[in-house]
Amino acid sequence: MGSIYRYYCEKCDHPFQFEFGGGFRYETYTCTDCGQQKGILREASIPPCSCGGNLGRNHPPKCPKCGSSKVLEGRLMMHSD
Ligand SMILES: [Zn+2]
Ligand SMILES: [Zn+2]
Repeated sequence: MGSIYRYYCEKCDHPFQFEFGGGFRYETYTCTDCGQQKGILREASIPPCSCGGNLGRNHPPKCPKCGSSKVLEGRLMMHSD
């Protein structure tokens, strides 16, 4: 099961959610370019991100607004399933 955390960007103060893991039927992938997250069914093939970047698993969180990887971990918001 996944967990959703709230992060804050150190650079632009933008708050954003980041999910670790995934659900029973899907896994969470993160774009290595823009930091956008997508839940993809486990048996599905991995499409490219809408920005043209690659989606990867276990990629560290990145600010979706400015693209900085200097982020502060906030608190656990919820468990997803
Ligand atoms: Zn992207
Ligand atoms: Zn930022």
